Amino acid sequence: MIDTEQHVVTDEYGDLLVPHGNYLKPNALGGYIVRQSDLSSFNRCNLQKYYNDRAEADPDAFQPEALSATIFGHVVHYAMLVMERGIEEGAEDPLRDAISTFEYYWLPEHTADLPSGSQRVQVWIARQTYGGLRDRGRHLLREYYDRRMKEDAVPLALEYEFYVPLPVNGRIHTLHGTIDRLQIRKYYGKPYLSIEDYKTGKQPVSLRWNLQGSGYAYATWCAEFWYGWGFTPEDSLVDVFDPDVVKKIELAFLSRERTLHDALAVQHPDFEMTPRRFHWVNLQEMKFADGGWRAQRDFARFRLAVDAYVRAAEAGVYMPNMSGEVCGYCPHQGHCAGTGIADEEEGKP
Ligand code: SF4
Repeated sequence: MIDTEQHVVTDEYGDLLVPHGNYLKPNALGGYIVRQSDLSSFNRCNLQKYYNDRAEADPDAFQPEALSATIFGHVVHYAMLVMERGIEEGAEDPLRDAISTFEYYWLPEHTADLPSGSQRVQVWIARQTYGGLRDRGRHLLREYYDRRMKEDAVPLALEYEFYVPLPVNGRIHTLHGTIDRLQIRKYYGKPYLSIEDYKTGKQPVSLRWNLQGSGYAYATWCAEFWYGWGFTPEDSLVDVFDPDVVKKIELAFLSRERTLHDALAVQHPDFEMTPRRFHWVNLQEMKFADGGWRAQRDFARFRLAVDAYVRAAEAGVYMPNMSGEVCGYCPHQGHCAGTGIADEEEGKP
């Protein structure tokens, strides 16, 4: 029995069942467009991902609630990009610009104006307040700036969006995502590609096997990441590297007998691929957390995860998060399973 008001399915006893549906968008090659962020949210909670997709597809469905932690993350993230652009373009005071950007968008009446699209906070997470997070945001930006100015790296791209082919199990999917920052760094004098993601959420314990890092590294492995791809969706506004710049990067690595991407690896089978390393820029604790190197075995596991994600969506199987770890931070906690999750004290005698 389907309750269209509650958007849930119940069995003959009235017990709630998880709703079914596949919201993956097909590409033009018989596969799907898989966003890197989709995999991260699917990993957080399959069911949360389903509710997010359904809300996007159906404005009448329950919509996610805007949590203070999420909106704070969006505002800090944007202010950080303003700072990075300012540093790159030689602005007079990039820190001041970042802090005033943060303060402006953190004001409840301005949050919805964020260029990335956001909304006013609807649910304040326990122990988070407007003023407390405002002070925290200013503090984070100052700390980040101090650290950033001591960095020894060659910046390649900021907020770089990509579409690359991802062959899995006889199908070609499209991997889509955005890398916050891509740089060349050195490891004992040897250059490598540093893939950096700004995070305001909780840092996982085992970053070395974090699939987000593997997905980004895989994307940079593809020539299409650098030069663009003919199967990029027509409505996308992707702005790929200037080919002359890519040629220079390629030559810089070739001079060290390293290739930048898979097309060059075919031309130079005796050269090794330029190493990739993932970094989780932990904005909560202002740590530049090392996520480790990435190579073929990581990409094999990444493909396996994509395959499982696609199969789950096609079969309409979305497991709720069993540990409950993320439920308290979930934008669907008010209507998960049609009932909402229990309050902390519920069930107390
Ligand atoms: S409340 Fe928990 S189980 Fe339900 S969708 Fe959110 S994270 Fe998943």
